[in-house]
Amino acid sequence: FCRLHETIRPYERNVSSPARAHPTNALVGPLGTSSYPLSGAGPLVGLRLAVKDNICTKSLPTTCSSKVLQDYHSPFDATVVSLLWNNGAEIVGKANCDEFGMGSLNLYSVHGPVVNPFGLQGEESAAERRSAGGSSGGSAAAVAAGLCEAALGTDTGGSVRLPASYCGVVGMKPSYGIISRWGVVSFADSLDCVGVLARDIDTTRRVHDSLAVWDHRDPTAAPPHVRTRAKRVSESALEYLKSETLAGLRIGVPREYFPSELEQSVVAPLRSLLNQLRARGATIVPVSLPSTPYALSAYYVISSAEASSNLARYDGIEYGMRVEPPPGANFTKTANVYAYTRSQGFGREVQRRILLGTYALSADAFENYFLQAQRVRKLIKADFDRVFCIPSVLNSPSSPISAGPSEGVHVLIHPSAIRTAPALPTLDSEGNPEDGTDAPTSTLDAYVQDVMTVPASLAGLPALSIPAGTGADGWPIGASVVGQWGSDELVLKVGEIIE
Ligand code: GLN
Repeated sequence: FCRLHETIRPYERNVSSPARAHPTNALVGPLGTSSYPLSGAGPLVGLRLAVKDNICTKSLPTTCSSKVLQDYHSPFDATVVSLLWNNGAEIVGKANCDEFGMGSLNLYSVHGPVVNPFGLQGEESAAERRSAGGSSGGSAAAVAAGLCEAALGTDTGGSVRLPASYCGVVGMKPSYGIISRWGVVSFADSLDCVGVLARDIDTTRRVHDSLAVWDHRDPTAAPPHVRTRAKRVSESALEYLKSETLAGLRIGVPREYFPSELEQSVVAPLRSLLNQLRARGATIVPVSLPSTPYALSAYYVISSAEASSNLARYDGIEYGMRVEPPPGANFTKTANVYAYTRSQGFGREVQRRILLGTYALSADAFENYFLQAQRVRKLIKADFDRVFCIPSVLNSPSSPISAGPSEGVHVLIHPSAIRTAPALPTLDSEGNPEDGTDAPTSTLDAYVQDVMTVPASLAGLPALSIPAGTGADGWPIGASVVGQWGSDELVLKVGEIIE
């Protein structure tokens, strides 16, 4: 998706980042609109947008928050960037993120961590440094801090929805294949989606609708006839939402989304939300998605395996920065450049994923890890298909549309995250948290933040996180609305009702 070889320049340290001036550290690189003059027309006129730094922009650097790409300038705009511009949006800058999108706290970034703006309101002495969530933390924080009305993020396993939940903004991951990935730097191709973060549903919808068009340059884009079919299939549910009451709308609440890790204070606001929807006529249905407990492990095996393959291109020879081995080093010249470049160019978390993914794809582990994870992915998808009354058009792209089980549900609602935003740990020089816990525990803690979001990613479903009150500590929490593949419009409509 990304012809990275064209303009890599030699690596220089400490590239200045004037955007640091903002206390959230949400935007990186040169700011201002001069590099993207306004196109002046279209549905996005009047909207300022930030673009996550793993999405290629011709007029601004694209670093993926990595040392390896710290001086990379793309020779082209990603399709989504061209669409923003053509539709009249103002592009205000690039948003900080976890390196290559890997992380849940926006901690692993060459630009430094993103601070959640929620804790920076009011008295300076009362400022609290909490995470903005990751990996699209800069996008969420920029919106929450009022630096822009909307931002593009990417969501591979929850990276739009988790920061949206932590920062108190809206975050929409579309159905996989609905928004083009051309020009988006790959982390895990079978899961990566471009998503939208915004202050409200109306803005989210405006941006989503401007971007949700077929792109022949993205081979995984859903073709036009599949989009049309999906729209037709979810229209019956939209009918229910036209009336004053929500009678006829069936909302599923999956029992597996209340695991032991879930903080109790997250449950009360969610319960009151469901009660309000019931009072307005919707039917709340307890459902079961029994494969959910295996989703997190399957996600980390599959995403790391794909990442290990995608990131092989940053080898110091064809792509990315290059670190020459010291004179007299023992191996062949090529092996040395490769090892030195990658050890110094990638941060700890990215190296961990590459090693994990390479192992999962090795002959000894392939059957037990990679294939097993793919089987789990199938089961997760089958779980969703079983509970939705809207059938997946992907299962039978050309046969007549048949209704799903009549007792099924139109959408699911569950907490977006297991807790409110965690405190920001500081990192030592090795890139490990300095909070007294050892690295593996902290890493695992970070991975567990994604437990609510990865199932929809594995199944490629549209999922929206919308602010739903506060936890016991007064910090924002989010509710997630998940729909069948292609029901993006329905999911946004339910979000509008909740808003
Ligand atoms: N936190 C997850 C991870 O680290 C998800 C990241 C993402 O969605 N880009 O892989």
